[in-house]
Amino acid sequence: MNVELEIKTLTEQLNQYAYAYYTLDKPIVEDAAYDQLYRELTRLEAAHPDLIRADSPTHRTGGVILSGFKKYQHDYQLYSLQDAFSREEIEAFDTRVRKEIAAPEYICELKIDGLSLSLVYVKGVLEAAATRGDGSVGEEITEQVKRIKDVPLVLSESIDIVVRGEAYLPRQNFQRLNQEREEAGLPSFANPRNAAAGTLRQLDTKVVAKRGLATFLYQEASPATNQTQEEVLAYFAKLGLVVNQHRAFATNMTEIWAFIESVAEMRESLDYDIDGVVIKVNDLAQQDALGFTVKFPKWAIAYKFPAELAETEILSVDWTVGRTGVVTPTANMTPVTLAQTTVARATLHNVDYIKEKDIRLGDRVVIYKAGDIIPAVQRVLLDKRPSHSVPLDIPTQCPECQADLQHFEDEVALRCVNPRCPAQIREKLIHFASRGAMNITGLGTAVVTQLFEKELLTDVADLYQLTVDDLLKLDKVKEKTAEKLYQSIQDSKSNSVEKLLFGLGIRHVGAKAAKILAEHFLNLSKLATASVDALSEISSIGTVLAKSLTTYFALDGTQKLLAELQAAGLNFDYLGVMNREHAALSGKTIVLTGKLAQLTRTQAKEILENLGANVSGSVSKNTDIVIAGSEAGSKLDKAQALGIEVWTEEELIKYENETNL
Ligand code: NAD
Repeated sequence: MNVELEIKTLTEQLNQYAYAYYTLDKPIVEDAAYDQLYRELTRLEAAHPDLIRADSPTHRTGGVILSGFKKYQHDYQLYSLQDAFSREEIEAFDTRVRKEIAAPEYICELKIDGLSLSLVYVKGVLEAAATRGDGSVGEEITEQVKRIKDVPLVLSESIDIVVRGEAYLPRQNFQRLNQEREEAGLPSFANPRNAAAGTLRQLDTKVVAKRGLATFLYQEASPATNQTQEEVLAYFAKLGLVVNQHRAFATNMTEIWAFIESVAEMRESLDYDIDGVVIKVNDLAQQDALGFTVKFPKWAIAYKFPAELAETEILSVDWTVGRTGVVTPTANMTPVTLAQTTVARATLHNVDYIKEKDIRLGDRVVIYKAGDIIPAVQRVLLDKRPSHSVPLDIPTQCPECQADLQHFEDEVALRCVNPRCPAQIREKLIHFASRGAMNITGLGTAVVTQLFEKELLTDVADLYQLTVDDLLKLDKVKEKTAEKLYQSIQDSKSNSVEKLLFGLGIRHVGAKAAKILAEHFLNLSKLATASVDALSEISSIGTVLAKSLTTYFALDGTQKLLAELQAAGLNFDYLGVMNREHAALSGKTIVLTGKLAQLTRTQAKEILENLGANVSGSVSKNTDIVIAGSEAGSKLDKAQALGIEVWTEEELIKYENETNL
């Protein structure tokens, strides 16, 4: 495509999306998809300024006015904000500011994900309220805004002032609203921002009153009576306007980034959505000196958190068998960037989930990432369903051993119940060797698969019969690797018994339950003979788990396996510390920071807590140790400044292994 045509296509596409988003409050693509195209257009326009079109979204703010509302001509223009998606982009902003202002002081605020609002007070009385619209003309929504409880109808001082801020829908109210809409058979809102915008553009003001919108005000549009943004906010609070309390001053990049990191950490605990942090020059005279572009103030920038949602396409689906026989569908997708990583696979969970969401091959879908798990499909974009999309083939036979699959009534999973299914055995072995279980270094998926294929391994007891010579039969395994692996297998024999118990992969017995059981019974043979009643007496061990244990230990195969493991010299005793007060890091306050390479955050936290430590989010003089991964920022700087002990991730892993809990 030639550049001119590309610019035209992007402009038209973005305008169509912006109309759906701003005017209709019904976005047709995810924000991340919009932002990506917007950036592409900005890049092309910068390289070819002569081809910029008059209707380019990069030169206009907001959207078209909705008919049915009176137009409101703003006395003072409302602007959008330039956005930054990385630390480097904020640095570039800081450099630009420093060309004009020698030592700027910044004020960093939360970027509330709502809808801009302009309030006009005359002699302290709310006279008009309007949306941003295109920045010059908005929709008049005075009666609607009067129904927002926290907007004062009269200020504490009898002044003329135009204030700007954000109207938003608190998360709880958003959930309640969508629930009610679902029950009434109405379409739900995509997010709180759209719900807030849709609510304020309700002609029926009773609806506004019912939905429970709220506001944060952050800018004085009429000529300021204050010297700094901080003073403006304090003055607003005095007038009775609601001001957000989370803000920080910064004079350099380290301080700006420290605030962004702290906001990212607390983001989930807020009762409202934010999509970033706004960094503003604090001094209002300096703001004036810096001025505006057609669209943005030059004295502010909005750092946007990485997208946690992305749009892509389902290309194919793999069905894989796990160690418990559950068959799980995973979608292969066109690669897409999500929360700063490229992803090409997403879980589809189970057959019920596929049916409920009506997920088909070829569908365009929205995927999301939550915590450490692999991305999942949030929804299908039905309006974009291509004509060639086809329903998924649900397997009736195990993809590995071809046994008939079972769909038990009480569960959503499809299961292969063949105890000899090679996939299950292989997965069980991989689980047995994993970090949380027997922690056998070097015994990952590739090695287990080979051992299995070469028939050197059929169950976990075989592991302890392997010799260095056996291991040398594997591809790419040289003497040194074989010896190391052999040693790691031998070392695992002396693990405390909860590791073995977890490694056996008994249904419902996770790492935590294994620890509780080991602490209680102190020995595996004792646990193996315990009755359901004896097991159920332990608090936090329910009857389901108790029954699962007794069923497992009653099997002939189990008795044989335990006998073999014992004969091979595996430790069956609990060697751990009896309670947290005596644990290795008992009473220590530890902070995790930066990117960890081998452990997830949750795993690292669990390890530390098992060692008796309290894991805290912020560094202070009461912190005992900081565990720093790569790209650790302000927390590491602070720890070093305070002279606090700093460990690497490797040191933590080594410490845990040595402590051998
Ligand atoms: P924006 O929402 O990214 O940023 C500017 C706005 O931030 C301001 O107008 C103000 O209302 C708000 N804001 C919140 N807290 C603030 C604070 N403390 N100080 C100052 N301002 C604050 O910019 P925009 O131009 O309104 O919208 C662009 C964004 O909207 C895009 O990045 C995109 O994510 C989204 N969008 C999505 C689609 C879609 O189809 N999904 C279409 C158009 C726009």
